Amino acid sequence: MSPRILLLGGTTEALRFARRLGPESIYSLAGLGRVPDDLPCQVRVGGFGGAAGLAAFIREQGIELLLDLTHPYAAQISANAARAAELSGVACWALRRPGWQAGEGDDWREVDDWAELVVALENFQRPLFTLGREPLEHLHEIPLHQHWVVRCLTAQQAVPRATVIGARGPFDLHGERALFALLGIDVLISKNSGSASTEPKLQVARELGLPVVLLRRPELPTVEREFLQPDALWEALQRRMV
Ligand code: NAP
Repeated sequence: MSPRILLLGGTTEALRFARRLGPESIYSLAGLGRVPDDLPCQVRVGGFGGAAGLAAFIREQGIELLLDLTHPYAAQISANAARAAELSGVACWALRRPGWQAGEGDDWREVDDWAELVVALENFQRPLFTLGREPLEHLHEIPLHQHWVVRCLTAQQAVPRATVIGARGPFDLHGERALFALLGIDVLISKNSGSASTEPKLQVARELGLPVVLLRRPELPTVEREFLQPDALWEALQRRMV
């Protein structure tokens, strides 16, 4: 019989998993992005109120297995998941997607936070930010010699010396080449998500000999079972279901 699963999502892989879960299971989203309405499982939107709240939800709902398929930079919910699993005595399995690796000729530079990023960008004019919403909080701090291009889920009104593009992956190589050329990008900024759906921008930076500034990955907790590939997690899940 299938265990009652609570799947923490918000990623492409998580949505794929959710499509294969039964009606006894729950797909959980923070509520920042699109909420699918065509899933065979239940869908829940919004936070739980920290690790204690998540543990309480697990107990109340009779959850038998917690799956953490959140984004590698969503460190808070992953920490909560690990702690809630301990508190509730339920197993937590996580997909820990490996990061991208620099290839020959790549000029990749790592920074820890926004302050370090600003310093790393000092000598560039046309950065392309693909970090989510964080740059939007700093649009009033754009140095006079820079024009920022910010790509995130939702567009917003133009501000001086910035272009904000609302777009949702996957992004293909052809489109990424066109974007870099059209906007005269001279440096790319990204999280190291390791996702195939956003990888083409790295290929374009490589082709153009442009540096890439990567926000370092956060520490994630150790949980009962960790998988590097979705297929391995799916196989383990099927073995557990038998
Ligand atoms: P975060 O900082 O780790 O989490 C902040 C809070 O949001 C959590 O403490 C939790 O609230 C709630 N939350 C996060 N994911 C949730 C989920 N799947 N179900 C229910 N509540 C959730 O996360 P974030 O970086 O803001 O990311 C939010 C969501 O977007 C995640 O689900 C993640 O997979 C997705 N996402 C994130 C990124 C990224 O770069 N960070 C990129 C793509 C997608 P409570 O403490 O109240 O439970």
